[in-house]
Amino acid sequence: MSAKPLIFVVEDSPANQLLFRAVLEGAGYEVEVASTAAEARERLAAVSPALILMDVQLPGEDGLSLTRWLKFMHETSSIPVVALTASTRARDREAAMVAGCTGFISKPIDVSTFPSRVADFLDSHRGETSR
Ligand code: MN
Repeated sequence: MSAKPLIFVVEDSPANQLLFRAVLEGAGYEVEVASTAAEARERLAAVSPALILMDVQLPGEDGLSLTRWLKFMHETSSIPVVALTASTRARDREAAMVAGCTGFISKPIDVSTFPSRVADFLDSHRGETSR
């Protein structure tokens, strides 16, 4: 059994999937990837990740719609969701928070700081749940 935290990535771009997997596995995380909201829903019925990284722009159902559903469902509501967005507009970032995201990371990601940003989100969530 692995003690590595599982990071669940919802991302439709194959290039980004490879990048996230490489950077996160390199930082010692276990990684699962889903390409669509439907695929993510199906998989999240079986696994309980420590953190979800959510691409906002997905084909079909978007990442914020999926986030609202995950926050509504008892089984997944406590899993922190971090939005991945190329948008720098305050309005889009607000929309991510309203949907239930705990924060966001800008795309394209900075690979040198990405693992520590993920670690910070994991740490702050641990702090919240133990309070
Ligand atoms: Mn996308």
